Amino acid sequence: MKGLMQDWPLLCHKIIDHADIYHGDREIVSRSVEGPIHRTNYRAIGERARQVAKRLELDGIKFGDRVATMAWNTWRHMEAWYGILGLGAVYHTLNPRLFPDQIAWIMNDAEDRLLFVDLTFLPLVEAIADKVPSLEKIIVLTDAAHMPETKLKNAVPYEEWASEVDNDFAWNEFDENSAAGMCYTSGTTGDPKGVVYSHRSNVLHAMAVAQPDMLNLSSRDRMMPVVPLFHANGWSTAFVCPMVGASMILPGAGMDGQSIYQMLTEERVTMTAAVPTVWLMLLQHLQDIDGALPDLENVVIGGSACPRAITQTFQDKYGVRVMHAWGMTEMSPLGTVCSIKPEYAHLAGEEKLDLQAKQGHPPFTVEMKITDDDNNALPWDGETFGRLKVRGPAVSSAYYKGHGAEHFDAENWFDTGDVAHVDALGYMEITDRAKDVIKSGGEWISSIELENLAVSHDDVAEAAVIGIAHPKWDERPLLVIIRKEGSTPTKESILEFMSGKIAKWWMPDDVAFVDEIPHTATGKIQKTVLREQFKDYSFPGT
Ligand code: ADP
Repeated sequence: MKGLMQDWPLLCHKIIDHADIYHGDREIVSRSVEGPIHRTNYRAIGERARQVAKRLELDGIKFGDRVATMAWNTWRHMEAWYGILGLGAVYHTLNPRLFPDQIAWIMNDAEDRLLFVDLTFLPLVEAIADKVPSLEKIIVLTDAAHMPETKLKNAVPYEEWASEVDNDFAWNEFDENSAAGMCYTSGTTGDPKGVVYSHRSNVLHAMAVAQPDMLNLSSRDRMMPVVPLFHANGWSTAFVCPMVGASMILPGAGMDGQSIYQMLTEERVTMTAAVPTVWLMLLQHLQDIDGALPDLENVVIGGSACPRAITQTFQDKYGVRVMHAWGMTEMSPLGTVCSIKPEYAHLAGEEKLDLQAKQGHPPFTVEMKITDDDNNALPWDGETFGRLKVRGPAVSSAYYKGHGAEHFDAENWFDTGDVAHVDALGYMEITDRAKDVIKSGGEWISSIELENLAVSHDDVAEAAVIGIAHPKWDERPLLVIIRKEGSTPTKESILEFMSGKIAKWWMPDDVAFVDEIPHTATGKIQKTVLREQFKDYSFPGT
């Protein structure tokens, strides 16, 4: 017997329609790339998105075609996304922080036909456009008055391009499993891999993100996604905000502490989201100007582990709740949020911070397990760690063109590449990346745990731990450190500080002091490069 409910395809453009009808006047405030603050609302975004869809159609863009964007978070980027989506084409976000050749490679892999680009990135596009034969037109997200000289053959200003048609356009209807968007993983190992979201996965994922134990977002929020739309599906903010009718405050190219602070305070932001590096810059700025955050209630921190000091400072000094989150491009991206279940409601002080250092528990739609190398499930005791695997309706089932098939198994479990433990209540804590974990005498040592301990030393600015080949133990940890300016910690003083706080066999065998630690385009420590730098290193006495 079948259910007798309507088949209402979960299409992303229904989200902007909903926002237009029920939250039409809600403000979308952007720092424009040209400079001034720009104000619009969901009604206008919806109308302009229809215009973009109609104009794209005039350019011959069809269902399933890839349309790239290389842009900051602004209202124009939102209009472009929904225009692409409502036509049935596929948005493809490009990360401008990647190497130019890598971007060209990605565009060729996706066969992008058009590109929406911000003024900031025009020189970058000028350098690579000739290497992307599929690229027919470049739409510069500005107006004719701000359009610079460019050697690009087919570049047009967005405003004039869009105004060649009106907004009388009916969204296309199609199967909810059709591709909606693409985002490539940053490819710190091997070529980048294309993740393809569907309309259905984006809609279901946004519904999961909005839940009270996840981002708990509502029409009363003024949400500022500092995380760019080009990073891991923009953490779903372009979908979840209009879905619940939250105002969006879009920081444009202003990613420094002062610009972020200005938007947070002048635009009365209640919730914001970004990677830890952004929050370090903001907290430094707040300290410099002796500032306050009277309207901000929640800050979502993810992308890499949130340092305890950030959580503590936000909560104790500024009265802002920290929501530590974990996810990845392949998961749309949200996997877990560390919200507090009633069993943990009594925690305070250091114990609460211990809990908040965990990445948290998943929403409905994300299944999770940890396994050993032979795929045997491991216990959820908050200690035993293993490979973290996930599945669900907003988790990738494959990469574009079938690359990286080894990450998916027959039962649809996707191997995240992360190593984690899970406690009895389902709180997950990442202890490492599978390729970074140090395998010593058949046991695993968490490089992240050692790094976290090392950076809690007052004289340490940044720390990275890598495994170095060892004749007896297979691998042993080497601690690489950047000293804080003006301090002179020694190997002995650091090891003495760590001693007693971790198992004896986890203690690094040596400490190396460096001036710089390499980072990826999304701000993570690039262990592959670091391992390369230390490839000729051997421990004293081995
Ligand atoms: P990129 O490398 O381009 O940022 P992703 O956002 O997909 O790509 O990266 C996902 C990975 O980032 C995760 O598999 C995990 O290793 C790491 N990560 C994300 N959030 C956290 C977190 N809160 N704590 C620790 N690691 C995290």
